[in-house]
Amino acid sequence: MNIRIFGAGQEVGRSAIMLDAEKKVMLDYGVKLEGNTPEYPVAMPKIDALVISHAHLDHSGSIPLLYKNMRMPTFGTSSTLSLVNLLLEDSIKIAKKEHLPPKFQKRHIRAFINNYINMPYHRSADFGGWKLKLFDAGHISGSAITQIERPKAKSFNKIVYTGDFKVEPQILHYGAEMVKSDILIIESTYADRDHPDRETLSNKFIEDVKETLDNGGTALVPAFAIGRGQELLTLLYERGLADRTYVDGMIRKATHAITEGEERIRNAASLDKSIAKSNWIESRDDREAALTTPSIILTTAGMLNGGPVLDYIKKLNKKSKIFLTGYQVEGTNGRMLIEQKKMMIDEQLTDIKFPVETYDFSAHSGKEDLYKYVRESAPNTVICVHGSEENTKLFAETLRGEGFDAYAPKVGDKIEIKD
Ligand SMILES: [Zn+2]
Ligand SMILES: [Zn+2]
Repeated sequence: MNIRIFGAGQEVGRSAIMLDAEKKVMLDYGVKLEGNTPEYPVAMPKIDALVISHAHLDHSGSIPLLYKNMRMPTFGTSSTLSLVNLLLEDSIKIAKKEHLPPKFQKRHIRAFINNYINMPYHRSADFGGWKLKLFDAGHISGSAITQIERPKAKSFNKIVYTGDFKVEPQILHYGAEMVKSDILIIESTYADRDHPDRETLSNKFIEDVKETLDNGGTALVPAFAIGRGQELLTLLYERGLADRTYVDGMIRKATHAITEGEERIRNAASLDKSIAKSNWIESRDDREAALTTPSIILTTAGMLNGGPVLDYIKKLNKKSKIFLTGYQVEGTNGRMLIEQKKMMIDEQLTDIKFPVETYDFSAHSGKEDLYKYVRESAPNTVICVHGSEENTKLFAETLRGEGFDAYAPKVGDKIEIKD
């Protein structure tokens, strides 16, 4: 079997990994923030099946491109389908708004939906002799670890792809399930460091938010629409701040899609109550109203590249504070804000005078959990993807030192596995 890397090799973004043997299976088909799609040196071969690990665009954003040229079943959970649909529809709208030619049309999204096979966790599907099963990845709603078995292979017949996963539980998610493997394809986002203790971090965040409100300012919390948005919404509710929380942007729609999803989430009742108790921004007038009293505004975009968050920044009073809650990719407004206290607003490089604080509410496994997962999954071969060049190389090298056959492939690489 060959494992071919079309994306997410020594990079984060456009995940696209193909298992190429008697069947061809694509694991994820994402897009990079700057719009880069997966790369293939030759014409894309006919794919027998596509598996989507979870809804984030770096794993799903290029799916409609595949449906331009071919039809194949796509496997994933029910939440993944509704969230991907939401994001893909939105990306067509954004392209229109920015007067960019859309990369795909609605009919390609429809083709994807029509070929989608809903896979609850732990149920197995059989296609052409290959067996597929999904497990909870603990990352966001519907996120899955994929297990594929090839009964025909003499050895190394169990392939596991982690997608993005978090071993430690979050408010709304149980930790990732352990899945045994012969070949493990694993994310490496945080192969270089551990995250701070979540409880301590949450306490500090809430104190900081309260202090901002007490001073008469607005606590502006940009967050990713799927995952982080709902975690923070529930945290604010659990700490008695729901009535002072205003929710805007894509987080609103995504939250509804998640509550309607079939996949188990932890503390679903808390999420429901936080929806009922917090304030939902529906119009420009609501936005103005939210700014008249000291309040918490939870809104997209998480990296401050577009979305209602920019509108708010222009209008905040001087006592306000910005709370970053996730990784800020290079080249984004969020990264510029941290490094230079500047942002692009209305195509103008603007100085930002408000204090900015970063809180690491990551939905990825930290270093120690990544290594532990590999050891317990006990594969022969490990393929480290979805991380910076340094992190994937470091991860693979350390694993080789522990006796694993480990790789950190680049985009375009092909790894040959004898079976
Ligand atoms: Zn993700
Ligand atoms: Zn990802």
